[in-house]
Amino acid sequence: MKDLGWDDEWARTFGPFAAEGLIPARVAIEFNYLYRLFAETGEVQAQHAGKLRHESAHLSAVGDWVAIRPSPGEATATIEAILPRRSHFSRKVAGELTEEQTVAANIDTVFIIMGLDGDYNPRRLERYLMLAYESGAKPVVILNKADVATQLAEDIDEIQQLAVGIPVHAVSAKERSGIEVIERYLGPGRTGALLGSSGVGKSTLVNALMGEELLKTREVREHDSRGRHTTRHRHLIVLTGGRGLLVDTPGMRELQLWAHEDSARETFDDIVELAATCHFTNCRHLGEPRCAVKQAVEEGTVTAERLASYQKLRDELDTLEQRKSVRDQINIKRKFKSASQAMKKMYKDRDRE
Ligand code: GDP
Ligand code: ZN
Repeated sequence: MKDLGWDDEWARTFGPFAAEGLIPARVAIEFNYLYRLFAETGEVQAQHAGKLRHESAHLSAVGDWVAIRPSPGEATATIEAILPRRSHFSRKVAGELTEEQTVAANIDTVFIIMGLDGDYNPRRLERYLMLAYESGAKPVVILNKADVATQLAEDIDEIQQLAVGIPVHAVSAKERSGIEVIERYLGPGRTGALLGSSGVGKSTLVNALMGEELLKTREVREHDSRGRHTTRHRHLIVLTGGRGLLVDTPGMRELQLWAHEDSARETFDDIVELAATCHFTNCRHLGEPRCAVKQAVEEGTVTAERLASYQKLRDELDTLEQRKSVRDQINIKRKFKSASQAMKKMYKDRDRE
């Protein structure tokens, strides 16, 4: 259990569930609402109890610690509760209205992977850093494909300046050089996850850490450099010899921006600080008079690209906010409707008496 990440704090949280005869387990794979769990006794197949099924927010994700009730005489169980998450990654579910869905939980360290080849893109890294801040996991930046880097020192420098206070390491997953640095952040019972766009070398890295070709590395097509599609289920990988755990799931791979203003503030500290001194309190820094941000761009203390990426992010957040508020309004309407129906019935019943 310790190798799975179980500790005294989890045990304390679990106390009341243990009293009900439930046992703890950690979610390893999710597929079509069927879960494969790691428990003390081994692997168990499970489904959610009916009361948890109605809201996507109440569904468990890979990495979750859950309280299960084993079915007598069978290797199956029911998930009765999810222990409060220490960290989680969520994504917005596509559709008319946005819904938050957890794709991975209880990650200690998130490795943000970027390639030092054509993939190199500091603006994208900023987005991933924001997701990491949002999640509650500790971020570490891994610059992969160091073997083909053309200006390694400059790139590391640039990333280090943008990710202040965050460790940055250059590795080559392909040549298996420098990858032991990842294990330094893991160890017995500690869980890591890899974040980064397709083709940066996540599978290669996981394979190298596992020391065997368990995951099928996707070949990058020569012409469009898009990875060939392979289907794999969500996975919690236990590294041998108490080296820790790794989450590598399609959900993590497809993570989209689901961030709040707070995390925008952390990554764009300088711009937010400047914005506070703009003449207009609602300044959008698009050419308004006496705009401190525009002035900083002119003076060269803030680059135009950085301002543009801040504005793009802000627009995305605004859209997200609007969608959320539409959802809230619908919920309010629904509640109001059922409340007024209940009221009508009450009056009717009273009049009848
Ligand atoms: P994923 O989509 O992030 O899982 O990326 P993959 O692990 O499938 O790797 C994508 C491509 O990059 C493959 O062709 C790998 O062989 C290649 N690759 C991965 N790591 C390295 C590396 O360190 N150096 C070089 N030159 N290529 C790498
Ligand atoms: Zn301004």
